Amino acid sequence: MNDLHYDEETLFELATVAPARRSGRVHMHVGSCSRCAELVASIESFSAALSEPEVWEVQDPDPLQAMPDEGRIRQLQELETRLSTERTVAAMRLSVLLGLRSA
Ligand SMILES: [Zn+2]
Repeated sequence: MNDLHYDEETLFELATVAPARRSGRVHMHVGSCSRCAELVASIESFSAALSEPEVWEVQDPDPLQAMPDEGRIRQLQELETRLSTERTVAAMRLSVLLGLRSA
């Protein structure tokens, strides 16, 4: 068992490189570590979802008319989680763009 894993930012950097161009120690580790591989897959899935145009479509044209029922509250909680993840990904991408992290 290997208890040492890469942090999410390092795995994010790997996940944002085209699979064919991945190499190095992080790539090698992910190939043999299910925990890190799952995180990379999750980041890839999230990034792919963000590139889907449907994600950016307004689903309810008049949200003020909707009742704050259980379904609506759950939707808002899911939205909050998604936005939080999006902020984290955006911050990581920005730090790479600004040269604060190596890509
Ligand atoms: Zn690992």
